[in-house]
Amino acid sequence: MEEFDVIVVGAGPAGAAAAFAAAKAGVGVLLLERGQKPGTKTVSGGLLYTHVMNRYFPDFGSQESPVERFIDRYVLGLLDEQRSTCVDFFDPGMSRSPYNCASVLRSKLDPWLVSKAESAGATVALGVRVDGLIRSQGKISGVLSSGDEFRSKVVIQCDGFNSLLSRDIGLHDEWQGKTVGIGIKEVIRLSEEEISRRFRLSGRSGVEYTFLGLPKGVEGGGFLYTNSDSLSLGLILNMEGAVLKGVEISEAIELFKSHPLISGLVEGGTVEEYSTCLVAEGGFESMPPLYAGGYLAAGSAAAMVLNTGFNLRGMDFAVGSGSVAGELAAEAVKAKNTSSAFMSNYLTRLKQSFVLTDLLSYKGYPKFFRNTRLYSVYPEIMNGFLHDAYFVDGRKKNHLLGLARKSIKGKVSTMRMIADVFSLIRNI
Ligand SMILES: Cc1cc2nc3c(=O)[nH]c(=O)nc-3n(C[C@H](O)[C@H](O)[C@H](O)COP(=O)(O)OP(=O)(O)OC[C@H]3O[C@@H](n4cnc5c(N)ncnc54)[C@H](O)[C@@H]3O)c2cc1C
Repeated sequence: MEEFDVIVVGAGPAGAAAAFAAAKAGVGVLLLERGQKPGTKTVSGGLLYTHVMNRYFPDFGSQESPVERFIDRYVLGLLDEQRSTCVDFFDPGMSRSPYNCASVLRSKLDPWLVSKAESAGATVALGVRVDGLIRSQGKISGVLSSGDEFRSKVVIQCDGFNSLLSRDIGLHDEWQGKTVGIGIKEVIRLSEEEISRRFRLSGRSGVEYTFLGLPKGVEGGGFLYTNSDSLSLGLILNMEGAVLKGVEISEAIELFKSHPLISGLVEGGTVEEYSTCLVAEGGFESMPPLYAGGYLAAGSAAAMVLNTGFNLRGMDFAVGSGSVAGELAAEAVKAKNTSSAFMSNYLTRLKQSFVLTDLLSYKGYPKFFRNTRLYSVYPEIMNGFLHDAYFVDGRKKNHLLGLARKSIKGKVSTMRMIADVFSLIRNI
């Protein structure tokens, strides 16, 4: 039986950051990952907000780092079956240091982060699937893998959203369909020159698109991000909404790609990767307990994901919470105090950091985004209104208020619209 100070389960952004922080603080760390290579068993759209990297991994922006492009253009599109209305925000300052966010591919980001943990002194074991936790004297004291025991003073659980260990420890039951999304992602190969030409990009700058409205009526949205020589394209649909409406995620992505706006953006590309994954959608309200004696949970294992409609954040929370967890685990080991009371400092520190501050201040968003009219009625109204405003056919042209009334008529009642505006104000 082997014994370590700290065992970290899962070498995604949360686990690699936790292992790096604990090893840097001078304690013995074992990082366990089920994949044969980091980044092969996980899915992410791929936009990473750089503030957290500037703090914990300051060489993230260097030429050797896994950055694909720095995003300086943000497009929010409302789609109906054929049409689209886009808000296009461009700020060239965001592709200069300290940047805002970067597109990344997990097949490059995760190995890079794990190499940082290794350089700080962590032992990394790949191809090891943890299937349970060891408990003794009311605390977590190690993990089990295929009958082998790995003992430690602290276990940091970073095994992602669909976690075996959370169920094992009894911290939460099965996830509820309305707080779970199904994500699907494709990496589409296109040459660097073509991407720069098609999206009007220069140097390492990039563009993010997020979309609402397809497939019609299912809570969720689509994304398209530019990498150096590929595009990351995908959908995240609410599980309950997709099941109730009988929408298959594989059909949904084909429908999404066949929309005239999207098909023009991906034309000529070759799909090189295709992956699906569950994603937390419940926000702050659906987070499980984050600590116990000898135990901490970080990243999406703790449901730390935030969807605001115009961005999806999970990786920055993973790196932020993993770093705080790694630092605290090292302190607990040095203080020879891994009691639940000591581990509760984790919650205090997360509340002082951007992780719980942001998740808390956006806690009403998941409720607001459960309104199905956002994904059908309102995109149709907006596209219908702009169609009528732009289209000139020689007949008497109504004034804009009249056109707005016409596009709303029969789609949603005035009372419902007022209620939706109140819900927007209350929850957002
Ligand atoms: C389609 C989609 C798009 C997304 N887009 C974005 C985005 O653009 N930006 C953003 O910030 N976030 C995005 N997210 C969310 C983001 O991917 C997650 O929040 C982030 O990956 C969480 O990191 P993590 O380290 O906590 O978990 P994960 O990235 O899930 O990593 C968990 C690791 O643990 C390993 N593991 C799992 N079980 C075991 C086990 N039993 N034993 C050993 N190892 C194990 C896995 O193999 C994996 O390497 C997206 C998610 C999806 C599904």
